[in-house]
Amino acid sequence: MDIDSLEETCTMPVEELYNLGLDGVPFTNDGVLYYIDNDSPVLGVAYIGADDPDDAPFFSRNKKTRQVWSNRMAKRIGLHILLKELPLVGITPDLLIVGDSSGGVPNTDGYFGAKEYKWMFSFDLPRSGASMYQYHDDALVTELLRYGFVYRKDEGYAAIDDLWFLGFVGFNFGNGILGEGKFAQALLRITERQIKRFIGFYNAMKDNELEFDVSAGFDEQAWRDYYGPSDPYDFANISDDLDSCDLCAGLFPVGELTQIRSIGDGIWLCETCIKTNMFDELL
Ligand SMILES: [Zn+2]
Repeated sequence: MDIDSLEETCTMPVEELYNLGLDGVPFTNDGVLYYIDNDSPVLGVAYIGADDPDDAPFFSRNKKTRQVWSNRMAKRIGLHILLKELPLVGITPDLLIVGDSSGGVPNTDGYFGAKEYKWMFSFDLPRSGASMYQYHDDALVTELLRYGFVYRKDEGYAAIDDLWFLGFVGFNFGNGILGEGKFAQALLRITERQIKRFIGFYNAMKDNELEFDVSAGFDEQAWRDYYGPSDPYDFANISDDLDSCDLCAGLFPVGELTQIRSIGDGIWLCETCIKTNMFDELL
């Protein structure tokens, strides 16, 4: 990944950002939803929050460890991957960019016309892996695993959550972000590896029409139960003897995790994540 290009995405004003990569494509903008029709069977979704006027953008990097820090990173990296990175490998999904709204479900009437998508996705999940939220389907999880994604029943909000009524299956992929808000950093080794995995997954799945039954509506209770207190990602319920790998979020006895001190204030990783993400050389 070109770090200069990522810096540009993270530091430019939000109004300019919406003009990135839009040459020659139909573009709709009502201040909340931005839609780009690339004539693709797949819909990419990115959330982008408004800029805080009191918080000037900053960006810094460590070239050796391929870490980057920015107070805009968490809001921008998903869009950066969709707009700037995927086209470099020939992947140009249609894009729905969900901006700050007054709350509630975005009104997408008039955006897609009669267009149906095979599936939708975003890169809005911190760290590594992939999640499907209410679109969970065992057979599709098997496909994700086949292309190297760790499956995470992750909590938290993603823009694709609010778009269930469209009736498209949704995937949320890890973007290599660690930390939150203005303290977020991206571990580009992980971001890049996630993009590689996505290329394999996309090429295998782009023509498959995936089924999501929207007729039952969004059963919020079922969704909450799915992420219930026995879920390993409910950190309040983790016993003192177990700790969670910062990447795959798997649970391991405390002594089995290794701290990578050269990354930020140190992250704890399992042996598999260290090997598959090539962190060995940083130990
Ligand atoms: Zn791990």
